[in-house]
Amino acid sequence: MKILVPVKRVVDPFAKVRPTPDGFGIDTTGQKFEINPFDEIAIEEAVRMRERDPAVDVTVVSIGGPECEEQLRKALAIGADRALLIETDRTYDPPSVAAELAALAADLKPDLILMGKQATDDDCNQVGQMLAAKLDWPQATFASKIERAEGSLTVTRETDTGEETLELPLPCVVTADLRLNEPRYIALPGIIKARSKPLERRPPAAQPKPRTRLIKAEAPPPRSAGRKLASVDELFAALKGKGVI
Ligand code: AMP
Repeated sequence: MKILVPVKRVVDPFAKVRPTPDGFGIDTTGQKFEINPFDEIAIEEAVRMRERDPAVDVTVVSIGGPECEEQLRKALAIGADRALLIETDRTYDPPSVAAELAALAADLKPDLILMGKQATDDDCNQVGQMLAAKLDWPQATFASKIERAEGSLTVTRETDTGEETLELPLPCVVTADLRLNEPRYIALPGIIKARSKPLERRPPAAQPKPRTRLIKAEAPPPRSAGRKLASVDELFAALKGKGVI
């Protein structure tokens, strides 16, 4: 089984970011970059499948600049077999990412595209769904459990009203939620091994045609200071005073 895991390089999700002075983007000067945390969960799941079945092959792919190699090498250190960098300096919105990944899927013919449910930098939560639609493949989003059977997957997914279990024939697209697994700590031998794993660079199949445009980036308003209350009665009185209850 061939698994393709798209991996996005994102600003460290625990870092504090600020807009650029012109308000047209995010100032990433001096920021640390990481694998998008939901993609790390997807890589972990794919690698666990390979550890259970050596016939599984895991390819990770990033669309972006040469700096993405850092995250791809980390994905190889977790245990992916090979990496692919679709090298570009252009801006991709979710439809453009989905179009590029769909072109790649037509070439590589994976049985499963396992990816993060969303990127923590722009929180779009769109690429997986758009990719499944473009490929006309079944999809299961927000996966919290994946079980393999012959030619199909059983996926438990998290919804607002509880858990839903779906059966999907392969090939399909699955997006990973937080509870799918806990990614492993990357040990030194993995890092050393990753240096000799294949990392291929390719130009994009097509130029992106972004349909959305960032017109403004603003920092959230600063939080007003909290107030400590001595009792529940005081809390009720304060909430009543604000007209909340
Ligand atoms: P989004 O819809 O932008 O929140 O992203 C959902 C998923 O799409 C991410 O978790 C990644 O798996 C994938 N993705 C988004 N952008 C890229 C990119 N530039 N390169 C590779 N994968 C990406």
